[in-house]
Amino acid sequence: MAKLLPIVTLPSAKLRELSLAVAAADIQTPELQTLFDNMIFTMYEDDGIGLAAPQIAAQVRVIVVGKDALSDQGKLPFSADEDLVLINPEIQEYSWKTELDDEGCLSVPGFGGLVQRHVNVTVQALTRTGETVSFTAKKYFARVLQHEIDHLNGILFIDRAKEVWKHEKNQSM
Ligand code: ZN
Repeated sequence: MAKLLPIVTLPSAKLRELSLAVAAADIQTPELQTLFDNMIFTMYEDDGIGLAAPQIAAQVRVIVVGKDALSDQGKLPFSADEDLVLINPEIQEYSWKTELDDEGCLSVPGFGGLVQRHVNVTVQALTRTGETVSFTAKKYFARVLQHEIDHLNGILFIDRAKEVWKHEKNQSM
């Protein structure tokens, strides 16, 4: 049974730490597989579309993305019908084209902001089965990935936002 994990929110300094790479040999351990399941469960419980491990106080390079962000992507090296777990994700290429859109973050509750992001990004990562994958994400999926990978480097959307406002409810990542 997956467990709901408490979300780390500002002003916790934990959100500003650099997360550590996961050793490929550790991916299949029950500890990490349970962490992945708990992160997905927590993301849905809190109405998020993505979640990064430092948001639940685990300083490891793991992110999860809800399957709703995977639609309209064309060919991907994993199922678009399942929630995605990416380990040690690295952005290898950015489209020069960028776009401005609003974002929210479970770790910055009550605020939204307009953030300029690359429209497409090419990412290499490991999956929860330990497979190396490389793919190009577009639009909203690319935005979620950029937001979550920023978390692994201690960066929050408010650092990049052109404008920040108080928000009742937003699409949080
Ligand atoms: Zn976030």
